[in-house]
Amino acid sequence: MKKVLITGVAGFIGSHLCDRFVKEGCHVIAMDNLITGNLKNIEHLFMLKNFEFYHHDITKFVNIPGELDYILHFASPASPIDYLRIPIQTLKVGSLGTHNLLGLARVKKARILIASTSEVYGDPLVHPQTEEYYGNVNTIGPRGVYDEAKRFQESLTMAYHTFHGVDVRIVRIFNTYGPRMRLNDGRVIPAFIGQALRGEDLTVFGDGSQTRSFCYIDDQVEGIFRLLHSDYCLPVNIGNPDEITIKDFAEEIIKLTGTNQKIIYQPLPLNDPLQRRPSIDKAKALLDWEPKVDRAEGMQKTYDYFRSLSEEELMLEEHKDFSEFIH
Ligand code: NAD
Ligand code: UDP
Repeated sequence: MKKVLITGVAGFIGSHLCDRFVKEGCHVIAMDNLITGNLKNIEHLFMLKNFEFYHHDITKFVNIPGELDYILHFASPASPIDYLRIPIQTLKVGSLGTHNLLGLARVKKARILIASTSEVYGDPLVHPQTEEYYGNVNTIGPRGVYDEAKRFQESLTMAYHTFHGVDVRIVRIFNTYGPRMRLNDGRVIPAFIGQALRGEDLTVFGDGSQTRSFCYIDDQVEGIFRLLHSDYCLPVNIGNPDEITIKDFAEEIIKLTGTNQKIIYQPLPLNDPLQRRPSIDKAKALLDWEPKVDRAEGMQKTYDYFRSLSEEELMLEEHKDFSEFIH
């Protein structure tokens, strides 16, 4: 039985990874400090013998007894609202947290896969984004704390590979969505669906001509799974290249939810990338992977999930109180 440490398990992607690795018959050691995550996302796994949970901040020394085969490092605030509110924790988890896990991987001789992001390309001047593109990031802009933490994370990971021979994998994740996203995390899909369900107008930032390309969670998990089991140690984009403007996307949500909300326009946040679409040629060639779930199907499943939430959860517009995490 393979032993896998997964960090960020109470969050969106981490919780789906736990489901997948448990289903594959692995022993999953799950870790999270709950800064943006919620135990509800993994409580269905608590009774399983091959699942254990540690409430731990990975920026502090990480100690795991016994052997480890794989480490999947997914702990990090991931939405612009989160990393604007907890900028230092975001920098620390990408740098100190990653350092701890790379050290652990080295000692355990475990393979480590780290979650990087399309944000390493910043507001990209090359379109679609290939893995060879270096990016266009404003280090001191509002997104700098996330983007630079992730860029540092990639450098540190490659340094551990080169200098210590650690077996590494790097996934550059493009906008991924699905059940278990936090309704109030500010990302565009929960934001629009939450607004539609509450009968509010949909807030499009800027003129809505900026683009994104949305990947359904099941496709993302499959891509990550294949990358982990490949022998390729350089970054690989995993995302869905089906690109749409945010304005057209807002109109799709209005159709999907059958509501007659209006679109209202608000200022575009500083350094909000104007275009984003992954080149997935590498993933296709190396992993024989491409997304299978189109936006209509994925959004229907996501909408059904949010619709199943209680009235109380839907009204939860206030952002989480992070004060207990800030020292
Ligand atoms: P999320 O906020 O839902 O989950 C992140 C989890 O990490 C949370 O449960 C949080 O409590 C935990 N965490 C944060 N700091 C921690 C710390 N110091 N110690 C222990 N746990 C900590 O976010 P997500 O969307 O699931 O993103 C997961 C990973 O994927 C992140 O690394 C993110 O950068 C990356 N990613 C996600 C997307 C996306 O579209 N969802 C896109 C690009 C990259
Ligand atoms: N956005 C929007 N209205 C919202 C939330 C987001 O128009 O209520 C836009 C945001 O400006 C960005 C896109 O939707 O251009 C995707 O934003 P998100 O925060 O989901 O992720 P990003 O890709 O920017 O990290």
